[in-house]
Amino acid sequence: MTGIDDLPVRDELRGKSPYGAPQLDVPVRLNTNENPYPLPEALVERITERVRAAARDLNRYPDRDAVELRTKLAEYLTDTSGYALDVRNVWAANGSNEVIQQLLQTFGGPGRTAIGFEPSYSMHGLIARGTGTGWISGPRHEDFTIDVPAAEKAIAEHRPDVVFITTPNNPTGNAVPAETVLALHAAAQAAKPSMVVVDEAYIEFSHGASLLPLLEGRPNLVVSRTMSKAFGAAGLRLGYLAAHPAVVDAVQLVRLPYHLSAVTQATALAALEHTGTLLKYVEQLKTERDRLVAELRAAGYEVTESDANFVQFGRFADSHATWRKILDRGVLVRDNGVPGWLRVTAGTPRENDAFLDAVRELKKEQE
Ligand code: PMP
Repeated sequence: MTGIDDLPVRDELRGKSPYGAPQLDVPVRLNTNENPYPLPEALVERITERVRAAARDLNRYPDRDAVELRTKLAEYLTDTSGYALDVRNVWAANGSNEVIQQLLQTFGGPGRTAIGFEPSYSMHGLIARGTGTGWISGPRHEDFTIDVPAAEKAIAEHRPDVVFITTPNNPTGNAVPAETVLALHAAAQAAKPSMVVVDEAYIEFSHGASLLPLLEGRPNLVVSRTMSKAFGAAGLRLGYLAAHPAVVDAVQLVRLPYHLSAVTQATALAALEHTGTLLKYVEQLKTERDRLVAELRAAGYEVTESDANFVQFGRFADSHATWRKILDRGVLVRDNGVPGWLRVTAGTPRENDAFLDAVRELKKEQE
């Protein structure tokens, strides 16, 4: 049987596995930080209308620069952060994964490096590898906050071209204070200068504010966002970034022409018309996230502070064995490979009850 390694694939891809959260058919799926609420019917109708209109023009390529969509995304960011941005500050792509890929194609690449503070979003390292960018794993404290002096030291030593800071962090859930981002940005500028990418995929769920105002006067800072989580539209594949207009000009050097389909643009525009309704679900999910934290602690588990729509809980001598026992009770959570810990996404109240019943039962078994 011919396998990957029998083909002339690039050396750095040999023996590696693709990103793969299991997509199992289980009654309660709380493993990929999706929003559990289907889109409201009025929005489904609006998407249908907008997509129907777009369909009539599918013989033509879409708006290559997605101007209407970027304008609306800029309005959303301005309204929710109080920091004024316009179309020139915003770029959009197929999920924030593609945004990150375009940033690494622009500012990373062969002979260059990127650093992240792990455990964090594993795709930063995987996309680095896919773009030929060297990957440096930076340090965190035992409680999963970023060890600032150690991080500054790593930046000074390795002089990376791209620095990733995820806030709230995935899979641990904790938010990164603005002072930490400012300290690492200063360290990165002193060392190189390099680009600092703040991944705010989960920021709408945070107790604190977005770091968008830090963009002021910092052309080397980028904030990446997604409609996959707060907007409940993971299936849409729409990610975006906010930055100095020069960054938006730079990523256009690597984007594929017409990368964002007319159907995607129409659907995202419809979703943005319903921002108010969608953000109400975010409030419900934040309440459920706080309930998960409280109930897990009451049941005797350790929990990392969470500003996201998921919660990291532990500790387990064998987290994979515990993951399996929870799965045997019909609930799929995530083993991110952080020794001793698992991650659960906040679902509907009913799904969270099923999860809490399962983990309470496990505690009883151990007693
Ligand atoms: N950043 C972080 C921190 C994430 O957790 C995810 C998705 N799990 C993404 C980016 C990518 O999301 P998407 O491509 O769906 O926008």
